[in-house]
Amino acid sequence: MPYRAPVSEYEFLFRHVVGYDQVSATDRFSEADGDTVSAILTEAGKMCEEVMAPVQRNGDLHPARLENGKMRTSPGFADGWKAISEGGWIGMSAPEAHGGMGLPMALTTSVNEMMSAACLSLQLAPLMSQGQIEALDHHASDALKELYLPKLISGEWSGTMNLTEPQAGSDVGALSSKAEPNGDGTYAITGQKIFISWGDNDFSENICHLVLARLPDGVPGTKGISLFLVPKFLPDEAGKPGVANSLKVVSLEHKMGLHGSPTCVMQYDGATGWLVGKEHGGMAAMFTMMNNARLGVGGQGVGVAEGAYQHALAYALERKQGKTPSGTIVDHADVRRMLLEMKADLFASRAILLACAVAIDMQTATGEADWAARAALLTPIAKAFGTDTGIRVAETGVQVHGGMGFIEETGAAQYYRDVRVTAIYEGTNGIQAMDLVARKMMDGGEAACRLLEEIQKQAEHARGTLPELAEPVWQAAETLREATEWLVSQDNMNDRFAGAVPYLRAFARVLGGHYHLSAAMADKDGPRMALARFYVDRLLPEHAALLAHARAGAEGLYALGIDDLAGG
Ligand SMILES: Cc1cc2nc3c(=O)[nH]c(=O)nc-3n(C[C@H](O)[C@H](O)[C@H](O)COP(=O)(O)OP(=O)(O)OC[C@H]3O[C@@H](n4cnc5c(N)ncnc54)[C@H](O)[C@@H]3O)c2cc1C
Repeated sequence: MPYRAPVSEYEFLFRHVVGYDQVSATDRFSEADGDTVSAILTEAGKMCEEVMAPVQRNGDLHPARLENGKMRTSPGFADGWKAISEGGWIGMSAPEAHGGMGLPMALTTSVNEMMSAACLSLQLAPLMSQGQIEALDHHASDALKELYLPKLISGEWSGTMNLTEPQAGSDVGALSSKAEPNGDGTYAITGQKIFISWGDNDFSENICHLVLARLPDGVPGTKGISLFLVPKFLPDEAGKPGVANSLKVVSLEHKMGLHGSPTCVMQYDGATGWLVGKEHGGMAAMFTMMNNARLGVGGQGVGVAEGAYQHALAYALERKQGKTPSGTIVDHADVRRMLLEMKADLFASRAILLACAVAIDMQTATGEADWAARAALLTPIAKAFGTDTGIRVAETGVQVHGGMGFIEETGAAQYYRDVRVTAIYEGTNGIQAMDLVARKMMDGGEAACRLLEEIQKQAEHARGTLPELAEPVWQAAETLREATEWLVSQDNMNDRFAGAVPYLRAFARVLGGHYHLSAAMADKDGPRMALARFYVDRLLPEHAALLAHARAGAEGLYALGIDDLAGG
């Protein structure tokens, strides 16, 4: 089934739902007006439909492989990378001074989402480069920026991020990779990193690894970690890839999905690296990359949800089974339920994602603390709800296909297998939820309550015309506000953590109600109104059960001892 880029959907969201007009009204982004947005999205959509979507199955059927130490990527991926690079899609939001386009993150996020829908495993490669570009732009020396940024932005070179080690996954501070000063301003990096996405390829001239390691005087834990740029080939005097660095891909992981993306075990044996940011300041620098990647991974979930939805709908419109007015399964009530749940949550997760990107753009353009707090608050929600939605929609897509969903040739199962990891990497969704209830509530819940006030104001405004939607949204925001107040008053962090995931999901449910209400207000007699009604009547009520769960505290979770967990 060919992928169709949902350009008009983004245009609608930008215009009526996520407040993009605020972004284009700033001096910083004044050139990214409605016409520019439409032109860019149309062009990117074409590339996704014509170049990336056709190689999606290749990644699954012909995974990347290591042949005598050389990486061989899936058929068509090199051409895909070329098209992504030449289209300028890697450096859309990168600084113009180094060859980027300086466009808003809202646009980059939309294009990244389309690329994820078309071919997730290939899209992960430019996503890694984008995060590295942002980290270098914020934290690297001018010399490193001048040498590396233009090449990363043009796609001649590509980037990776190296945090994970066997004993250091969620607990990054447990890493044991070492960095020793060489005495000439460079460092010797030694250690093993696992699960490194696109740790090598056969289409970029050089591969630039951002590696977390500890200097000899680095204290244990995250405070003693530094960040290094370690290229596969050391640049020569002319800035071209020169001699090979002391690093290699040891092996590739065999995975449940995402087969086109090589997931590498990397070995660094005194490899030459350059410090990025301050000594022992590695986590701060890496967080720039991780925040970028968290939004990007949320977009991966939304993108896969779009692809899986299109796939399922096309099947439902063709498959004949049972007596229905149209003759196909699309008229069965339960199939309608599945399709509407998919479509309604796809809209909600995309709106949250783009609202987060808009907050990042407003932070960039205005420097205002309130926008920074809004972006920080929405990032874990965009990541976790976007990826949870991708998984749920892809799983429902399999169900819509019946038995054919379990048969690989329809492609429905690939979406499900590919997207599953998005809830795990870039910080598991459990870790995202803990970030929301701990770090993002260090302001006593102020940023959250400010957003809830806006939601209630909009609901009050809509009460006159759409009371059946406005009232439940207002009430849901009120219940969430009460739960937030309860949450921030808990001194025992484990009581917060016990309810973190249901709290995040409830937050996303309420945000979804808010954005559906905005869409209904802009389209009172159209299908968006009907979709909003479906969401508010049938999905929004979940927030109440989730918040009851969120407020239950930790004690009950430990009422069963370890022996009881194992016992019958
Ligand atoms: C396909 C793939 C690609 C990847 N790409 C990269 C990459 O490019 N670069 C890179 O550096 N890494 C990468 N990773 C690694 C990924 O980021 C980690 O797998 C992830 O952070 C989780 O770490 P872990 O696997 O060690 O799980 P663990 O940390 O062992 O977690 C196991 C479970 O325990 C939970 N848990 C752990 N700690 C806590 C806590 N403090 N509180 C509550 N719950 C907790 C987790 O949520 C999870 O459910 C990739 C992984 C995969 C599978």
